[in-house]
Amino acid sequence: MTAALTDCLFCIEGHMPAGRDESMGELFEVCPVCRPVCGLCDGLAVYPANYNTPAELAVDLLPLRLAAVLCPGCSGVIALISL
Ligand SMILES: [Zn+2]
Ligand SMILES: [Zn+2]
Repeated sequence: MTAALTDCLFCIEGHMPAGRDESMGELFEVCPVCRPVCGLCDGLAVYPANYNTPAELAVDLLPLRLAAVLCPGCSGVIALISL
């Protein structure tokens, strides 16, 4: 257990589990309790836990003929489109 600055019950460092996606694996979303909700996507964006950068995600999605649409406000994934 790390020395957390927050005692939020819903998240870990501002991120909370948001289920799983067939293509992207484990997903997180921004905790609306601790973090300001993104004004552009209204907090809808999700963050794949397995990827550090959007480029890594893009490389894995390409063989599936999918591409992630990222929110310009928070860089989360707001949609997957078929190529
Ligand atoms: Zn939280
Ligand atoms: Zn956003």
